[in-house]
Amino acid sequence: MDTDFIVIGGGVAGASAGCELAAHGRVVVLEREDTPGYHTTGRSAALYTENYGNRVIRILTIASKPFFDRHGFLSPRGVVFVGTAEQDAAIERALADGKAFPQTFEEISKAEALRRLPILRPDYFTRAIHEPDATDMDVHGIHQAFLKGLRDRGGQLVTSAGDAVARPTGKGWEVETRQGTFRAPVVVNAAGAWADMVAEAAGVRPIGLVPKRRTAITFDAPSDTPVHGWPMGLDIEETFYFKPEAGRVLASPADETPSDPCDAQPDEYDVAVCVDRIERATTLQVRRITHKWAGLRSFVADKTPVVGEAPDAPGFFWCAGQGGYGIMTSPAMGRLVAAVATGAAMPADLAAMGLAPAELAAQRLFAA
Ligand SMILES: Cc1cc2nc3c(=O)[nH]c(=O)nc-3n(C[C@H](O)[C@H](O)[C@H](O)COP(=O)(O)OP(=O)(O)OC[C@H]3O[C@@H](n4cnc5c(N)ncnc54)[C@H](O)[C@@H]3O)c2cc1C
Repeated sequence: MDTDFIVIGGGVAGASAGCELAAHGRVVVLEREDTPGYHTTGRSAALYTENYGNRVIRILTIASKPFFDRHGFLSPRGVVFVGTAEQDAAIERALADGKAFPQTFEEISKAEALRRLPILRPDYFTRAIHEPDATDMDVHGIHQAFLKGLRDRGGQLVTSAGDAVARPTGKGWEVETRQGTFRAPVVVNAAGAWADMVAEAAGVRPIGLVPKRRTAITFDAPSDTPVHGWPMGLDIEETFYFKPEAGRVLASPADETPSDPCDAQPDEYDVAVCVDRIERATTLQVRRITHKWAGLRSFVADKTPVVGEAPDAPGFFWCAGQGGYGIMTSPAMGRLVAAVATGAAMPADLAAMGLAPAELAAQRLFAA
């Protein structure tokens, strides 16, 4: 089948890129699994926060908010960051970083932190920061909205495609799958943890992507504790977090264990670390774990996503390295991929915030 754009990977990255590209031509999104959100996209903590990641991440996050607001994908949550006596420097760093962007992010008293999160142990922490504007995200809704946008614009999602393998033809790209062969002048590599493997199979220089496993659990809250209105509780150095999730508590030890690309499974050790950290910081007792899972957050060395044409392979575009920010940055990332893959200028809102294409280009990783 001949088309204009082929996107490899049907997670939130491939779906948003596919949706935006479909405004410019015929698009086919190829997903290995039967279900497009099976891997990292379906395993996130679903938090939107403008106080996470480096400058580029923060710009992409802020630029994504109008899309989420337009579709009603955000709901109030807030975050209370806590720091122990040994974490003073981390609190100061976070406050300084927070000043660079306009959102509300301010130190609150211990009493105020305990009022917002009564299950914190008063002797565990010395300082706290409140981010009232952090929200929960409807991840399924976001992913489905991109896939609907793709379909509405005449694009196609092909699931159960197996491992799509791209090869240059001299005039463009040919991608072989279990569902047939697809040809296009442009291929977008949005294969999540597998993005370097897709590149290597295509003869394209890899970007040094490292998938890192992160574990999460849900457990029952005490029956007399109204969990729903709590903010997320987050260690200032991200060694654990917890938040309400459908009447239960979702918690993570915020692990980052390097892994091969795979169907990530939770490790019992990480689950035990999670329980220990939550029980030391709060009065919660983890008596019954109702669900546990793990997902791969994939990073390159500078923790900035890679978007742009591969310097060694014309027509092969990267959309990878979304790390722990891939849902909350997905609308802006999709627009950015569409701009670079069609040769258009940087979207005006991103340019106005000072983002330059070179900051995301793969070249930066090969400079040294
Ligand atoms: C525990 C946890 C908590 C997180 N919390 C948050 C959060 O609060 N907020 C946030 O914004 N982000 C969060 N993230 C990160 C976010 O989930 C990811 O950044 C995002 O889902 C990455 O999307 P993706 O489409 O790149 O990857 P994926 O969803 O993994 O999609 C890649 C797809 O490519 C497919 N694929 C791979 N190779 C091929 C091939 N050769 N052919 C065809 N298909 C292929 C795979 O099957 C897969 O479906 C979290 C992640 C984890 C694990």
